[in-house]
Amino acid sequence: MIKKIGVIGAGQMGNGIAHVAALHGYDVVMSDLKQEQADAGLAVIRRNMTRQVAKEIISGDDMEAALSRITPVAGLDAFGDVDIAIEAATEDEAVKKAILAELCPKLKPEALVASNTSSISITRLASSTDRPDKFVGMHFMNPVPLMKLVELIPGIATSDETFAAVQELADNLEKISAVSEDFPGFIVNRILMPMINEAIYTLYEGVGTVEGIDRGLRLGANHPMGPLTLADFIGLDTCLAIMQVLYEGLADSKYRPCPLLVKYVEAGWLGKKTGRGFYDYSGDGDPVPTR
Ligand code: NAD
Repeated sequence: MIKKIGVIGAGQMGNGIAHVAALHGYDVVMSDLKQEQADAGLAVIRRNMTRQVAKEIISGDDMEAALSRITPVAGLDAFGDVDIAIEAATEDEAVKKAILAELCPKLKPEALVASNTSSISITRLASSTDRPDKFVGMHFMNPVPLMKLVELIPGIATSDETFAAVQELADNLEKISAVSEDFPGFIVNRILMPMINEAIYTLYEGVGTVEGIDRGLRLGANHPMGPLTLADFIGLDTCLAIMQVLYEGLADSKYRPCPLLVKYVEAGWLGKKTGRGFYDYSGDGDPVPTR
């Protein structure tokens, strides 16, 4: 039975997973490379929970109890007693494999490992560990406290017991799960990311402006948010990494990443998390298009 959860990566997804887990009564260790990054993740959780208290979604007591259940740490030494480690670090296969290689010897033998990867093969990540039967994909959506869905992705070696345990965890976190086979991008990003990439091509080719493209999909297709705004929310580095996984994994040129997306990432304009992407978020008012 899962009681204690280790989360690796205190970025937007890692702190969101820690947030929801702690509110649902789980003890959480949340790790990042440096203590300052883990502490910054906890500060984001406090800010987001304060907003939930203001909206009367949770009480002040719920918030304090949840915050007291989260321990921010640097490195992986505190993972010896977790029942499941959920990896939510940067979307880069080499980074994830290096984390898994360091993590597994520190875990208890029966501990499960989940990856929150948006697109990388669960089977391949699992095969780099000492426990492919205890490895599974658990793909939360951003922002985790608000989005209902979690995609569950069994790798080829994932045992039924492991899958049942993460299904129960998803239920306990009040998420609705969708099961995806282990192919590049799974279900959601296989469909969503080519649309976002096409929106960036539409901008690159001058078919529409940033605002025109976003307005078009919001009001013309009833999307709650335009694709370029959504790309900024996801993180343009993450969008590019997912397109590269689709392109290479499915070997089809229709998935080639738009050169403009590549250029934004090369510039370090990664979207909301760095203050600039297709919009500039540095002012007090509405975000301003950057093209
Ligand atoms: P992010 O850039 O906000 O956070 C990544 C964090 O991982 C950073 O804080 C970084 O310091 C940390 N990190 C890097 N190497 C590490 C290591 N060796 N040990 C510990 N921490 C390390 O990225 P994110 O948006 O939170 O994405 C994280 C994962 O979640 C990725 O796999 C991404 O594909 C996936 N994901 C993202 C979204 C989204 O909308 N952004 C949605 C679902 C899933």
